[in-house]
Amino acid sequence: MPLVGIARLASQSELLEAKRAVEYFEIPTRSLLNRTKPNMPFRWTINPYRGCEFGCKYCYARYAHEFMELDAYAFEDKIYVKEPPEFLLRQELARTPKADPIAIGTATDPYQPAERRFRRTRAILEVFAREKGWHLGLITKSDLIVRDLDLLGEIARRNVFNVHLTVTTVDEKLARLLEPRAPRPQLRLQAVRKLRSAGVCVGVNPNPIMPGITDSERALDSVARAAHEHGALTFGGGPLYLPSAAQKVFLPFVEREFPHLAARYHKAFEANIHLSRAYKDALAERVRRIRERYGLASGIIEYRPELWAEEEQMDLFGVADEEGRDTLKTGCNSPSSTTTCPKS
Ligand code: SF4
Repeated sequence: MPLVGIARLASQSELLEAKRAVEYFEIPTRSLLNRTKPNMPFRWTINPYRGCEFGCKYCYARYAHEFMELDAYAFEDKIYVKEPPEFLLRQELARTPKADPIAIGTATDPYQPAERRFRRTRAILEVFAREKGWHLGLITKSDLIVRDLDLLGEIARRNVFNVHLTVTTVDEKLARLLEPRAPRPQLRLQAVRKLRSAGVCVGVNPNPIMPGITDSERALDSVARAAHEHGALTFGGGPLYLPSAAQKVFLPFVEREFPHLAARYHKAFEANIHLSRAYKDALAERVRRIRERYGLASGIIEYRPELWAEEEQMDLFGVADEEGRDTLKTGCNSPSSTTTCPKS
C-alpha cells in the first residue's frame, strides 16, 4: 500500500544528522591480568573494556581493535565489556606475587561511559578493597572515578595505590578537539582534589604530549600549575607515539585542524611510530624543570599504607626516616621518592 500523509513525508525526509550509535558487547575473558613487556613500570595490567568511547584523536590503543578485524574508528563505537571479573581476578591474584605492580586502565579508560552501566571497574576495585599489600595504579581521564571514592580510599589504606588523572591541556576548546567525548579538564582537576581529600595519592599526567600542540613551556606549565593547585602530588609526561592504526585517525585530524603542522607530523611518523631521541630528551628536560617548579614528584609515590599485609614483620624491619616517620621501600618500579603519602 502506498504511504500517505505524515508517513509519506517521513519516508521522503532528507537525513540531516544521524546520532552516533555505540554498541556494547560482552566478550569472554580467559585472563584479566595481562603481563607487560620488560622495563614497563608495571608487571601486570588490567583493562576491563576493549575500545573506548572517549574517542581521543591521538589514542594509541586503536590497534587492539585491528586484532578483532575491526578498523581504527570502530574502537570508539564497538565497546567490548569483559565478563564479570570478580571470580577470575581472585583466582589470578592467588598465583601472582604481591611485589608485582598492577595497573588498571593502561590501554582503555576504566571510567569511560560504559562503566556507568556495566560497573566492571567497580567490581575490580571491590576485590582490591578486601586485599592488602598490593602495589596498584589506576589511570583515567574521567571524573566518574569520584563515584568510587569509598573503595579507592579503602584500597589506599591497604595497598600502595597511585591514581593518575590524564590532563593533556587546560584549554577547554583544545581539549574538546583532541578528546571530543571525554570530561572537561576542569572536571578532571576537581576529581584530583576529591581523591586527595579521600586520602588517595594522585598525580596528573599531560599524556601524550603532542609536538606543536601541547608541548610548549607555557602549555605544560599551566597543566602542572593547575595540578598543583588541585592537590596533585606527581606530574609526569611522555611524548606522543603513533602506531599505524592511530596514525589513520590522528594524521588526517592534524591536516584538518593544524594544517601548518601536517608536513612535519607526516615526516616525523612516516618511518617510525616514535618521535626522535633528541625530541624525547628535550621534552623530558622541560617536564622535569616544570615539575620541580611546583614541587611535584615524578611517577609513583611510595608510602606505608595504614593497613599493610606484613604489618608485624614490617614493624620489625621498618626503617625510620630522619623525621621519625616509618617509611617503606616497596617493590614499585620508577619510584620518585619514598615518602608517607600525606593526608589531606
Ligand atoms: S581515554 Fe584513553 S583509551 Fe580512551 S580514547 Fe582516550 S586515550 Fe584512548
